Amino acid sequence: MPVNLEILYYKRIDKPVIYCTKNHSFISRVIAFCTINVTTAARRIICTFDEARLMFRYCILFIFLILLLPGTFLLRVTDTTQANREAVTMLKELIRIRSISGSERPALEYMLRKSKEMGFTTRRFCDKDSFLNFSASIYPLESAKPNIILLCHLDVVPANDSNQWSHLPFSGDLTNDTLWGRGCLDMKGIGVMELIAMKSWLDSASKKELSNNITLLFVSDEEKGSVHGARYITENFPDLLHPKLIIGEGGGGFKNFLPSRPDKLVFFISVAEKKSLWLRLSVKHAGGHGAMASEETANSILIKAISRIEDKKPILSFDKTTRHMFRELGTLNGGFKGFMLRHINSFLTRPLRRHILKHQPMLLSEVINTVQLTSIYNAPSPPNVIPDEANAYFDCRLLPDENTKKFIRKLRLRVLNPKIKIDIIDQSPGTLASPTGEFFDAITSSLAKTYPGASTLPVLFPATTDNSFFRSLGVPSYGILPLQLNISLIETVHGINECIPVKNIMEGINAYRFMLQALMK
Ligand SMILES: [Zn+2]
Repeated sequence: MPVNLEILYYKRIDKPVIYCTKNHSFISRVIAFCTINVTTAARRIICTFDEARLMFRYCILFIFLILLLPGTFLLRVTDTTQANREAVTMLKELIRIRSISGSERPALEYMLRKSKEMGFTTRRFCDKDSFLNFSASIYPLESAKPNIILLCHLDVVPANDSNQWSHLPFSGDLTNDTLWGRGCLDMKGIGVMELIAMKSWLDSASKKELSNNITLLFVSDEEKGSVHGARYITENFPDLLHPKLIIGEGGGGFKNFLPSRPDKLVFFISVAEKKSLWLRLSVKHAGGHGAMASEETANSILIKAISRIEDKKPILSFDKTTRHMFRELGTLNGGFKGFMLRHINSFLTRPLRRHILKHQPMLLSEVINTVQLTSIYNAPSPPNVIPDEANAYFDCRLLPDENTKKFIRKLRLRVLNPKIKIDIIDQSPGTLASPTGEFFDAITSSLAKTYPGASTLPVLFPATTDNSFFRSLGVPSYGILPLQLNISLIETVHGINECIPVKNIMEGINAYRFMLQALMK
């Protein structure tokens, strides 16, 4: 290593030493010392004893740093690679366990075993033998520490059309860096990322006593209404869990959302949810032979009622959450379109707002009650029998401010037929929006670490998740999948070819690690 040293004088002292002039920088001195000391030149270059001693110390420090920094880096890379590999293997095994709602217990037993192997404290919650929910925590729940809860359901919807899948729905196949199978995104993949991230964060965290607990709460039955899952837990164990906040199912990160900035990655964090309301409309009327000329039948009455409901133009309604969302959205987008979005609820833009939202179904669903006819049912009978009863099922998603009783009253007025009976099949609790304060900011900053330049938007989630049960208890709850998604990936959820790229798994683990780091500060 060429170092231009000036040898000023030789002074005989008791050790061979080096002399550098004061014109040499610190780095030059250290490099010179290292270089010369390992060659025979050491005895020909001298300096004062004090300078040599000082330089020797710097040199040791320098060598230590050189050895330590890359070592740490390599260790981290190895750790991360191992964590990712472990996550892929775990997810493959988990996908292969058919955990369709009602038969999900083996999947929960699998994750319970993994959580125990990683050293977490676990606790079971179950009301029936066929269901299982459990918590995996750093500290026992009885420690009563405020608890940051990562919430995940492990039941999945069926995959009846398996012949249309490019890989069998419960194969867990890994091809071209993509993992395939029902539950990859909704929500087994998320559970695996959370577990690996929690272990990884804990391994690198200070060994001091933490003021908060972290709990992974794995639940059943989400796809069928959560009666034996989150609903059962929140009704029976709200105090045991000591929830400080909930991070659960919700929006992801998307590009091509802002009309003026298509490359901008925006994460949608749900701070509120619509209420789900499942209704049955039924009518009974005399049946008979199909050859009879009947003026009115159960089916004809029902069809008229359905068309009266379908004809109704939905009313746009902006609450505090959606007004905030549109303001943020307009600011992020900028320009004239941004201005229009920012002021979408002002009296100036009011006449145009239906037009603005017409081609944005996702934004439109944020400001209307949706009333979706999902099935029409008659008891099985041959084609020549007029049935004496007809039923129609509606999946309604109501804005948080909407009063359920009033909504049904309005629906009854719309139908305008006393023969139609309206029954509630199921409904989720009404909840208030969670605040966009410190927790929201911590999630935002952690996402920006994994995805530099990404922004977040607080949104009203158009569907209902298990978060609503905790939100109804007043626990701040945020719905976020910390993954960069696109429409074709989202369409696989509850559809065919559900999958997740391995890259997303790695990014998701990192994002959850940063999230825990930010929330545990
Ligand atoms: Zn889900």
